[in-house]
Amino acid sequence: MIYLDHNATTPVDPRVLDAMMPFFTEHFGNPASRHHVLGCDAAKTVETAREQVASVIGADPREIIWTSGATESDNLALQGVAQSPVYKKRHIVTVATEHRAVLDPCEVLETRGFRVTYLGVDSDGCLDLDRLTKAITDQTLMVSVMHANNEIGVLHPIADIGALCKDRGVLFHTDATQSFGKEPIDVHAMGIDLLSASAHKMHGPKGVGMLYVRRRDPRVRCAALLHGGGHERGLRSGTLNVPGIVGMGAAATLRADDGVRALRDRLETGILSGLDGVEINGHPTQRLANTTNLSFDGVDGAKLMKAMPEVAVSSSSACTSALLQPSYVLGALGCHEARIRGSVRFSLGRFNTAEEIDIATAQVVESVRALRTARPT
Ligand SMILES: *Cc1c(COP(=O)(O)O)cnc(C)c1O
Repeated sequence: MIYLDHNATTPVDPRVLDAMMPFFTEHFGNPASRHHVLGCDAAKTVETAREQVASVIGADPREIIWTSGATESDNLALQGVAQSPVYKKRHIVTVATEHRAVLDPCEVLETRGFRVTYLGVDSDGCLDLDRLTKAITDQTLMVSVMHANNEIGVLHPIADIGALCKDRGVLFHTDATQSFGKEPIDVHAMGIDLLSASAHKMHGPKGVGMLYVRRRDPRVRCAALLHGGGHERGLRSGTLNVPGIVGMGAAATLRADDGVRALRDRLETGILSGLDGVEINGHPTQRLANTTNLSFDGVDGAKLMKAMPEVAVSSSSACTSALLQPSYVLGALGCHEARIRGSVRFSLGRFNTAEEIDIATAQVVESVRALRTARPT
């Protein structure tokens, strides 16, 4: 199996697993039970992981809230801020190509008296900052724009968006799940007030993530969605997932290596030179180093995946393809239906090799040719 679906999830790095293992057994303490040494050690360990994660984005460790993953982080950012009694504004601006973990909470907020503006994107998946500027009103509470798109890898200019939000006194949330640990992020330089990330997209374990919540300039007010023991400064009750948190901390210390860009380019140029009628979806340069989303003329993406079972790719967002709907992200780029149906996302990771890429390239070229010949005309 050649795994090229890292934007859906990644294998846990063995170094991350090694760091996690003792916290299932010997060091099983509950960090909230500080009246004995097991609990105290667990609490110290969690704080070390908090520092490791905070340092990736230039944050203070006290600004990191542990969650169960980016879906929860996005929900906490949007619904938590919206429900805070401190804020009176009732308008949110976001983008049509956001992950469902942002769009669905926005739809929930619309049923609770909020107005949400869903900005469109151009045919490259890029946002027009003038339109963003014009969408902000004196009623706007928050702007939520993802850093990197999960389906097409397109990067949004979050430093510019952060500056714009600061200028207008609007909170800025970014879903950085796909860019965390891969692209440089500095919450201060980029004017980010809230940021979501998830461990399993960066060679860490599933079921753990974090939300960065700015403590000053401005101090962001966020209401809890889960109530219970008052963990995480009251923002997220529930016993902490210590092994998972240790894993996310360890994953954060492992830098993404630059080799993945060369491999992605090798795959892309290999496919483009081997086949006619292939289009790149999303901006050719303003995108993640590991992602290429390609549409094959006259070929169904799902059939292509079936034709090459040893190559694991995705024909849409893995999270939304469970719904068996054509990609709304590619729809927002203005792609016609056939181009959407013919799309396949290749997303590379730390352990892919040049040999794997060459095998995958050959399989794609061969399978597309076979499917095109077999196609009844
Ligand atoms: C995967 C993903 C999520 C959801 O993360 P989970 O940790 O699986 O809940 C949210 N946003 C983006 C951009 C993602 O890629």
